[in-house]
Amino acid sequence: MNTNLQTPIDYLKGVGPNRADLLRKELGIHTYQDLINLFPNRYIDRTQYYKINQLQRNNADVQVIGRVTSFKEIAQKRGKRLVATFQDDTGVMELVWFRGQKWIRDSIKPNTTYVIFGKTNWFNGTFSMPHPEMELLEEHEKNLRSAMQPIYPSTEKLSNKGITNRVISKIMQNLFLETKGRFLETLSENLLSELKLLSKSEALFNVHFPKNQELLSRAQFRLKFEELFYIQLQLILKNLIHKSKIKGFPFEKVGDYFNTFFKEHLPFELTNAQKRVLKEIRADLGSNAQMNRLLQGDVGSGKTIVALMSMLIALDNGFQACLMAPTEILSVQHYNGLLEFCNKLNISIKLLTGSSNTSERKEIHENLENGNLQILIGTHALLEDKVKFKNLGLAIIDEQHRFGVEQRSKLWRKGPEASSDNERATTPTPPHILVMTATPIPRTLAMSVYGDLDISVIDELPPGRQSIKTVHRYDKNRLRVFQFIRDEIKKGRQVYVVYPLIQESEKMDYKDLMDGYESISRDFPMPEYQISIVHGKMKPADKDYEMQRFAKGETQIMVATTVIEVGVNVPNASVMVIESAERFGLSQLHQLRGRVGRGAEQSYCILMTSHKLSNDSKLRLETMTRTSDGFEIAEVDLKLRGPGDIMGTQQSGVLNLKIADIVKDKDILQSTRFYAKRILNSDPTLGLPEHKVLLHTYRQLSKYKNMWNYIS
Ligand code: ADP
Ligand code: MG
Repeated sequence: MNTNLQTPIDYLKGVGPNRADLLRKELGIHTYQDLINLFPNRYIDRTQYYKINQLQRNNADVQVIGRVTSFKEIAQKRGKRLVATFQDDTGVMELVWFRGQKWIRDSIKPNTTYVIFGKTNWFNGTFSMPHPEMELLEEHEKNLRSAMQPIYPSTEKLSNKGITNRVISKIMQNLFLETKGRFLETLSENLLSELKLLSKSEALFNVHFPKNQELLSRAQFRLKFEELFYIQLQLILKNLIHKSKIKGFPFEKVGDYFNTFFKEHLPFELTNAQKRVLKEIRADLGSNAQMNRLLQGDVGSGKTIVALMSMLIALDNGFQACLMAPTEILSVQHYNGLLEFCNKLNISIKLLTGSSNTSERKEIHENLENGNLQILIGTHALLEDKVKFKNLGLAIIDEQHRFGVEQRSKLWRKGPEASSDNERATTPTPPHILVMTATPIPRTLAMSVYGDLDISVIDELPPGRQSIKTVHRYDKNRLRVFQFIRDEIKKGRQVYVVYPLIQESEKMDYKDLMDGYESISRDFPMPEYQISIVHGKMKPADKDYEMQRFAKGETQIMVATTVIEVGVNVPNASVMVIESAERFGLSQLHQLRGRVGRGAEQSYCILMTSHKLSNDSKLRLETMTRTSDGFEIAEVDLKLRGPGDIMGTQQSGVLNLKIADIVKDKDILQSTRFYAKRILNSDPTLGLPEHKVLLHTYRQLSKYKNMWNYIS
């Protein structure tokens, strides 16, 4: 009944080998199916024409009727640009070309009426339109115009080679003619009727050739729903399969280590959120399935203690545990913090980092393998092949956004080797995994990115925390900021001054840092003031030495790059000065701010910037001074940067969405998750007749992998 949608695009009328090649290379369109799934970015009204004196400075797409009266060439830095004067009876504007100038000059007839279409810029007191689409008015009038003409994604190469939006629309029409616009339904009857969704065929038709605004909206909704629905279905299925197939060690009891710690050594009462999360973890550890859990909690929410107590459960059941952190400084800090408790509990704990020497390593390796060592803390060094555990039961990754997925999976394989008398066991049982992050990502995104993980959230800070006063100051107020720092130091406080470190311009950043250090040394002279400096080019041992001096209060000012961004805990430090704050991303600013406000004193975060600020920078600074809620900040960050930069999204497939937008369509996402869960709860194998269409579509999608780029 249906034209096979896997037909190569070359066979479609109006395409041919050259165009097919371009479509493949530029837009990844190989088949009919791919073309149907090329959804318009937006729709424009082609029934409306503007007079030049009606143009507005809002950079929208407009259509204007007029004539080219003259051309001129203007030399510029790279090459030259061609500028045409275009006028109607109300005014004059410019058309601009940066490429294809000879062809343009030869083909455009001066003083002949054209319809031009494109985006306008306001520049030097005139409107201009770069690379307009142009059509002779005569030709233009022969075509039908729509109030909702789709604009398809394109590339420079495509438009240069004449595959304009008009051409794409035309071949799309051919596709609908050839297939008669009949497409197999991909959602179940139940979903369609319960949600009053358009059928697949209606939706596809209206998204490409909208009859009216209402049908267009419904078409978009239906297609977005479908797209997100199958992603959720896949993630939830993966999670279910994981739970039923991947066995973990059942930690049956909570024993002496945990209980003694809880009764005698816990230095404070746990917050309700910490208690809840510990319960969730305990439930996972006690089941037969392997735990694979993400713990999200804002900076300072107290994740470390949760990590320690989870490790104690592992130890209580006779297993080893490890905790991996992304930097040397942070691992050392964790180690020192936990050592105290471990000594009290008579637990053996060691630190392994890149700077551990050979004999330390050797000892650690031995004691890990013979089981004498119970807890190992460290950096990536833990992942080395030589590091073999006797029976690793729980692996924790701190600040997991700093690690990749591969590292998480490397830890998986650190479980005990299958014993030889159990012949069926061919792979080691994976340890339980807990990943922790203080870069909260909005829940909606977490659902799609980490859908295969279970998520716990600490959404409450320990009591008595004062909120950090955050202000934005311009460089010219530096003297007053310095005076403020002096006053704080007089009160016995300590201060961080942080400089940006961005890979591309590392050299310049280094210079900024050193210049800053010198200027601070001048304003805060020895012996009254002692200053530490820590940056990425230092040897780990030197970094550690400086950190320790600061932590012990021997220095009052810590000048640093973002190496101190994660985890560092010096409760007496109460002022965080961030230099060139406009160059930092929101989550980084939030992380840095989290270095202060860890003690009882009022803390301050001072964001220093120059006067020139982009709109995005302004919004970032405004957000920082307005709120300290990590989830809210993450939400703004996501809006500003899109999901692309947020850790984990690269692997998740949410970037390959064809029509839905993970940020804008989060309500639809939520609803798809609800329906996917409900369906899988009642029918985990999608075996019921009414789910046949879902199973079929799901299989098709996995087969062609055009919807998600990871299938494990
Ligand atoms: P993060 O979640 O950023 O890793 P930490 O675990 O480093 O936070 O905890 C931050 C600080 O809060 C530490 O000094 C820790 O001892 C303290 N802390 C953690 N939980 C509590 C609590 N329930 N009550 C009081 N202080 C706590
Ligand atoms: Mg931490």
